[in-house]
Amino acid sequence: MITDYTKCPKCAQNIIEKEHKLKLILAQAYQTMGMEEFIAYKENMEDEIQHQKEYEPSSLSECYGIGIDGNTFKISYKAKCMLCGFEYSYNVVKDI
Ligand SMILES: [Zn+2]
Repeated sequence: MITDYTKCPKCAQNIIEKEHKLKLILAQAYQTMGMEEFIAYKENMEDEIQHQKEYEPSSLSECYGIGIDGNTFKISYKAKCMLCGFEYSYNVVKDI
């Protein structure tokens, strides 16, 4: 089995959505929140996005193998993201 690390497709989408949400919220929040609350909210959101950006390029572990074992052909693949928990797996076992 081989293990690689790559970018999680769900986290990439999550970051885009969070950045978009942040822009909308900040545009409105400046008028509705108190200044301290606004600054804390903005910093918290920016920290979370920064944290995700730092780990995003390698948050998805991929473990896979392919080959013939006796009279069977096997493909085994499993991916799991350490940031968001996204999982994907694919397995094939065929008699040959
Ligand atoms: Zn993820």
